[in-house]
Order: sequence, then structure tokens, then C-alpha cells
Amino acid sequence: MGGRTLVGMTASRIEFRTCPLCEATCGLELHLNDKTEITLVRGDKDDVFSKGYLCPKGTALKALEADPDRIRVPQIRTGDTWRDATWDDAFAEVERGLTEIIDRHGRDAVAVYLGNPNAHNLAGLIYNRVLLQSLGTKNVYSASTVDQMPKQVSAGMMFGAALSVPVPDIDRTDYLLMLGANPFASNGSLMTAPDIPGRLRALRARGGKLVVVDPRRSKTAEEADVHLPIRPGTDAHFLLAIVHVLFAEGLVHLDRAEGHVNGLDEVERIARDFSPDAVAPVCGIDAATIASVARDLAATERAAVYARIGTCTQEFGTVASWAVDVVNTLAGNLDREGGAMFTLPAVGGANTGGTPGKGRGVRFGRRSSRVKGLPEFFGEFPVVTLADEIETPGDGQVRAFVTVAGNPVLSTPDSNRLDAALGTLDFMVSVDIYRNETTRHANVILPAPGVLTRGHFDLALYSLAIRNVANYSPPLVELPPGEPTEWEILLRLAAICAGQGSSAEAGAGLDDFALLTLVQKAVTRTGSPFEGHDVDAVIALLSQKGRRGPERILDLMLRTGPYAGQLDLDVLEANPHGIDLGALRPRLPEVLRTPTGKIELAPEAVIADVETRLRPSLERRRSAGAPDHRLVLVGRRDLRSNNSWMHNLDVLVKGKARCTLQVHPVDAERLHLEDGAPARVSSAVGEVEIDVEVTDGIMPGVVSIPHGWGHDVEGTDMAVAAKRPGVNSNVLTDGSLFDPLSGNAVLNGIPVEVVPALVPA
Ligand code: SF4
Repeated sequence: MGGRTLVGMTASRIEFRTCPLCEATCGLELHLNDKTEITLVRGDKDDVFSKGYLCPKGTALKALEADPDRIRVPQIRTGDTWRDATWDDAFAEVERGLTEIIDRHGRDAVAVYLGNPNAHNLAGLIYNRVLLQSLGTKNVYSASTVDQMPKQVSAGMMFGAALSVPVPDIDRTDYLLMLGANPFASNGSLMTAPDIPGRLRALRARGGKLVVVDPRRSKTAEEADVHLPIRPGTDAHFLLAIVHVLFAEGLVHLDRAEGHVNGLDEVERIARDFSPDAVAPVCGIDAATIASVARDLAATERAAVYARIGTCTQEFGTVASWAVDVVNTLAGNLDREGGAMFTLPAVGGANTGGTPGKGRGVRFGRRSSRVKGLPEFFGEFPVVTLADEIETPGDGQVRAFVTVAGNPVLSTPDSNRLDAALGTLDFMVSVDIYRNETTRHANVILPAPGVLTRGHFDLALYSLAIRNVANYSPPLVELPPGEPTEWEILLRLAAICAGQGSSAEAGAGLDDFALLTLVQKAVTRTGSPFEGHDVDAVIALLSQKGRRGPERILDLMLRTGPYAGQLDLDVLEANPHGIDLGALRPRLPEVLRTPTGKIELAPEAVIADVETRLRPSLERRRSAGAPDHRLVLVGRRDLRSNNSWMHNLDVLVKGKARCTLQVHPVDAERLHLEDGAPARVSSAVGEVEIDVEVTDGIMPGVVSIPHGWGHDVEGTDMAVAAKRPGVNSNVLTDGSLFDPLSGNAVLNGIPVEVVPALVPA
């Protein structure tokens, strides 16, 4: 255990740790009683990054930890009956189930799904990799392909690494163009910045301008200087029109990127057809406005474009994500203070290892999925094809499933189909704290222990932070003997998959092996602080204070990272409010990891997609003239919701129902829909019934349902969520629709029909 322990303590006290619930990484001040229960949550005003900010979800950590529906003891299912089990019995059941399938059908017969909370979890980020390596299946899936995969793919192609994502330097920018993002509700994504509301208001207070492009007048749009409603799925067209203006009016100036760019001419060529006049009728933003946004971006010394989920979960997700960084580059805002900059994280940076300024770049499609032949992206297949792999007989058919902190039945498209497919599996094991819509299909549920039992460091999110920061929270509670920590659960699962049995010792052996492998690399790598050191001596150093598990590996990463000599785990432990490593600094060209050592402004696959899909779509939509009366569905986010998994907390879901169908008054009148009355929404794959919310905060022709709801199925055990189930928007989304460059699901712009639901007499 990495620090303070409560064993033997009797008095209540205050502890500080990073909130693990979203990407904002706020510092929390936790008041604990003598039973180590959380009695109060406040923002940590001394936190170097969040300075006391927290949102309602952070406060709800207390309710989350105390939720009576949380699973505390392993569960084994027989038919429809669940029973408590010991950890040894539960792991023995998992060993029996998985081993039988691996022996009979091979490793690809076991699929894995990793949910979004793994991105906030030190144990998950380190040991899920060990689990996947031990299992050796090609059927790996995650929430990434219903979320941000297009950005990872475009960043990988342009800058050479998946998480080389430039983030807006919002504390110093004077003009921020934001597309498909609602950080007032999400608290930021692919942009780690606590207190986004405060930071955006500060931008405006210093005379800066915030322009929000979104089909909905979201809370962020309400707070902006300008809100530009855009037709769903046309962000790429809009951004290419900005590129067109920059070239046509001689506004291109690369500044920091000068001399580091390939493909400039190709970008100019490809943007020629996307004049503002051509794009305006398609995206719904007039040509003069498009041109003026382009001019502002080029003329404002410190400006940035930032785009998020609305631009990723659509038909042209990768092209839109690419176009964001093309505009940033052409307007001279890439790698400039106040522009879009690269973080220099203390650990885990995809662009901090290897040779500065050059690398292997990224490759996709090293494997193809069995049924539809879809390529892998960063080691995983698009989750839109998971149901295909379970349903379709033949060699390699998925017969067993492992989920870690995920609820794909609510989070992925065509939910009813996946739900039915999961019911046909031979075996399923879930690491989860709830029996939810997905884990109800499991044969065994292994519950992760409470948040206070684990150390926390945002290995992934600090790579996307708008300041360079580092903050580690040690475990505060020691589990009773025999109770595994979360990382031990993952390692015992990994040991089973590796054929080493299910014992705690087998898991511990894998931990030692993982560390040994990393230390061996560190002592042989040229320039490493441990180059030439004795392996055993390094391991002894890292194992001081009885450290094991993720803490040892984190310490090694800190000692060999960009701040080696300045940071190690002891230093972080001594600074419970975090360490501010300063504002972002320019990193070109050393940040690049492309084979050419240049920014690839015109990746071949992206240009081909523009030519074969985007440009024809522009022509098709223009020739179709004014939009007809068909509606399209988009999602939305709420501050009190966290995708699918915080709906069992009364403190967050009480009050006005949030899972409603937002409809513009013009559409409501045309379709005879009444505010508060139920409507039936149908798509190519499903149908839901949901109450209507008439609002002019959504553009005509577009309707919106938030994702993550639909807690009304049999077999779950979430009493609060069941009382306010909402509907599952992914019953309507279509698994056959995805962005081919990234495999990402299309969750926005789904054609739907809406009619009043018949109210029983
Ligand atoms: S904004 Fe995110 S990190 Fe901050 S308190 Fe809320 S949920 Fe936690």
C-alpha cells in the first residue's frame, strides 16, 4: 500500500485524492469517519489544477461508495439465480468456464470489452494490457469505437502516435472554435481541464471569443459569444470550407509548423470543391459566417479549434477530426501558446519515448475481423461488429466474453441485437460493481472494491491536459486478508488466461514478470536513467516501502519519464495536492513520431475518403436541395450523468426527468407532438417510446435523446435506476453505420421517424 493507512485509526480525518469519475481530474477533499466511510466530499482548494472546483458527480462519490446495490462479494449465476461466492470459488468458476472454451475453440473464441472507466483507472490502464496479452485473443473491443477513435486515428496519421492530440490552450487562447462538444456538461474530453466553465468564462472575460458549433443550443452554446447550429454529420464539410477560405484568401501561415509539414498542396487541392457557397446549404451555416470564422482564426494571434464527440460519432468522424488539426495548422495555431498544443506528460506519453522527432508512425488493419473483415485500430476491432462475431457460427466464433467496467448493451449501437447475442454465450465474466444490463448475462461477476482501496494516477488523461501536471493518490484503505484489490483481480484473471491457474500467487507472479520485463527494457535502453543498472537493484528500489502492483510500475515510469530526476512516487506522495509542471510549451518538431519526421497534413487514407465519400456527399446533398422533413437523431450529455453508469444514485437522478426526446417547436407542431406526452421514435433497427420535450434549443429537423439510459430490463439489480429507467437511445442506432477510417460507430445523424405514442385509454 502506497501511504496512509487507516488500520488502527479511530478518529475521523480528511484526505485528498483525485476524482476518478471523469476526465477533468479534480482534486477532492474527502472527509472520512472512523470506519473509513466518506462523510463529505469537497473540492480541494489547494489542488494545483482544479483549485477547489468539483461538479455534482464528484460530490456523489460518497453515495456511489455507499450504494447498497453495489456488488461487494463475488457473484455466480445458475440459471436466473445469483449466489454469493468466495473469491477462490469465483475464480475457480472463471477458470473452468474460460479454460474449457479456450481448449475447445481457441483463444479468439473469447472476446474482451473494456469500458470507459478503465481510462480513469491506474490498475486498468496497466493490467488490462497484461490481461489481453495473456488471453491472446484478437477479439478485443472497447468504448473507444463508440467515442474517440477517429481522433486517435487522425492524430496517429498526422503526428505519429494515437494520443498525440493537440489540446486547446484555453487558459491563454483568445478565440476558441468548438464543435460537437459540450464541456459544461461533460467537463471536457480529450482535453483534461478541471473547471471548464470557469476557464471558458475567463476566456470571455479577458476579451476572447467562444464560438460553438452544435445542432443543439447546449449549456456551452448558451454561454458562448456565438452559437452556430449545424446539420448533424456536416462538420467535415464546414471545416473544409474554412480550409478553402484560408487558401483562397491567402491566409495560410504555418508559423511554428513551418518546415515541418508534408502535403500542403494536396490539402489545398482537396479543399477546392468545398467553397463556403457550396457548403453553406449543406451544413446550414451561411457562407459569410463560414468565411468570417476562417478569417478570425487566421487573424487572432492566439486561437484554437477544438472538437469532440459530436464530430467523432458520425459518418465522417476521421475526416472531421483530421480537418480540425489541419485548420489549426494552416491558421498558424498549432503548437503556439494560446493555440492547439501538445502536453508533455510525466508518464505514459505516446510521444515522449523513442527518438524525438521521428518514429514508426501508426499502422492499422494488421488483423481483420472474422465476419465482416473490418480492420483493427490500435489493437481492437470496431465494437459495431461484436454481435456479428458472437452470432455467426464457424471457426473463431466468439463463445465467451470478458467485460471490465463496461456496459456495451447500453453504450453500443443496435443494443437489442447485442443484448440477444450475449444471451447465447457459453460463458461470460464481468469485473463490475453493478449487475447491470450487460453484466446480468455474466456467469460470474467479480466486484471491484471501493475507490479508497486503490491508488490513482491519471496515466492517460494527463497526456491530454491543458497544463503539465502530475498528481498521485495512494490507497487509503487496506483490504482484509484474502480480499483482492482491483489490480489483483485483473492479474488473477490474466493468470487464468495464461494457463497458470487462478491462485493469488499466480497473479502476483504475473505482476513480478510485468515489472521485470519493464525494468529489463529500462536498463538496456540508451539514454534511460537506469541504463546499465543491475535489474535486481532497480526492482528492489521500486519495491521499497512494500510497494507492489501499479505503484511499482508507476514509479518506474516516473523515474524514466520526461521529468526523471524531478519526479518519482515519493515526490508525488509528498505532494497530495499535485505538482504543477507548468503551462504547455511548444514541442515541434520533437513531438512528432511519424516515419518522415513531418506532420502528415494529407494522409493518403483521409484524402481518399474525402474524394470517395465526402465530396460525393456534398454534391448529393446540394443537389437534393432544401432538407426534407426527415428527422435525424443526435445524442446529448448531462452534467449529472456519466454515460451509463451513475444512474443508480438518487442524488444525481432526482428531479426533472432528463431522458427526454428534444424536438423543435416547428417539428412538434408538424408531427402533432405535445410537450410531456409520449412519442414513438423508430429507426431502421429499433423503436422506443419516450416523453417529448419541446424546445427551441434544438434545430429543426433534429431530435435528441441522451445516451446511457434504458434501465428497465429484467435481471438487473439497480433499484434507483429502475425507478427512472429512461430509454436506451442505442436501440435506435444502427450497427451497420460506421466511419470506415476508424471503425467508429455512427451515433449522431441517425434517420428516425417520430409519431405521437398512443396513450392507453
Ligand atoms: S468534473 Fe469530473 S473530475 Fe471533477 S468532480 Fe466532476 S466528475 Fe469529478
